[in-house]
Amino acid sequence: MSARQRIDTDTRTRAHDTAVSRGPEHRIAARTLAGLTALGGLVGSVNLFVDGTLHAGTTRVFYAVAMLACLVAAAPLAVRQRAGRWPTFGLVLLCDLVYVIVVLSMSQPAHAAPLLLLFPSFVAAWFLGAWMVAGSMLVTVLACGIAMVHTYDGAVLIAVQTAISAGVLNGASVGVHVLRCRVQRLLEATRALSHQDPLTGLANRRHLVENAPRIWRQARREGSRVAAMVLDLDHFKRLNDAHGHAAGDAVLRAVAASLSATVRPTDVLARVGGEELVVLGLVNDAADAGRLAERLRTAVATSRSAAGHSVTASIGIALVRPVDGEDATAATWRLIDRADGAMYEAKQAGRDRVAAVLPRQRTAGDHLPAAGEPA
Ligand code: GH3
Ligand code: MG
Ligand code: MG
Repeated sequence: MSARQRIDTDTRTRAHDTAVSRGPEHRIAARTLAGLTALGGLVGSVNLFVDGTLHAGTTRVFYAVAMLACLVAAAPLAVRQRAGRWPTFGLVLLCDLVYVIVVLSMSQPAHAAPLLLLFPSFVAAWFLGAWMVAGSMLVTVLACGIAMVHTYDGAVLIAVQTAISAGVLNGASVGVHVLRCRVQRLLEATRALSHQDPLTGLANRRHLVENAPRIWRQARREGSRVAAMVLDLDHFKRLNDAHGHAAGDAVLRAVAASLSATVRPTDVLARVGGEELVVLGLVNDAADAGRLAERLRTAVATSRSAAGHSVTASIGIALVRPVDGEDATAATWRLIDRADGAMYEAKQAGRDRVAAVLPRQRTAGDHLPAAGEPA
């Protein structure tokens, strides 16, 4: 998987976490839904105390239970401050059912306008995926039909009124759902762009910082080390001066493509400066890191732009074994600074080579070429 594909996938996955089909994941959305559902139950309960509004007898009991159900349904939403798609779909169906009970309970069903169904319709349209929205629209037609049967006489009039009410509600639902999908796509695109370097398509500094805690956690879990490799292209200014900036850009893109094909799927490869790149990943020991760095060095040296220009890179490595409780972002930059120091040693030693900051506590298998030694 290329670095560009990986950023797109990461971004889509994360965006999807808060997206259509997952229910209200954000606490403000969940609280709002809980508040509106509870408010509906409370306001509706007023009818229990107004004479003549409801049919007498067991109807009042059903009505009271429906209002109570609104309050009960709001409680977990308010406490958890998030809901998955199935509970959200359940809330939508409950609100539709409550509306039907209200229609059947009112002595004047016309007072329970189908407009009340806007709430569940919009909740479904905004928070749920296409199939659940379609299901909600079907239930809207049924609920409107039941309401109209109790409000009007005559099959044609009932059918026309049902079509008008359900049509308006479902039309609005489709509009909201389309808008929601569009907003989601824009958010995903913006997020992908904000994590990507536009010239090379590689991850940028922000992506690197956001992924550092994940790499740190994984290293703690697996008992492995985190390696930072800083790559700086050699004499890149000369290439620009000799062949022009566009030729330099083409070489940067070729180098990026070649490195993307070389790093492992779990590594983060980011362009952090003009002709400076960082690879952050897990390694077992220093020898493991040295082998990866050597592969990266070869990948740069063998990459060619379409015009046939190429470049080499000096690479610095630093390793660390993460400890519990440290700030992953700060630790990442400390590690990168150490790798940067090693990279300068590789430059001084003649360029096109790998140099390492040797681990402070060496164990068997840790062998890296020290700065100055050929890679
Ligand atoms: P060294 O081996 O010491 O690293 O030499 P160098 O020439 O690579 O280093 P220096 O820092 O002097 O120059 C870096 C050059 O990289 C200068 C700048 O023109 C070029 N550069 C930075 N970003 C870009 C870019 O996006 N496109 C192109 N074409 N060149 C860039
Ligand atoms: Mg540089
Ligand atoms: Mg350079």
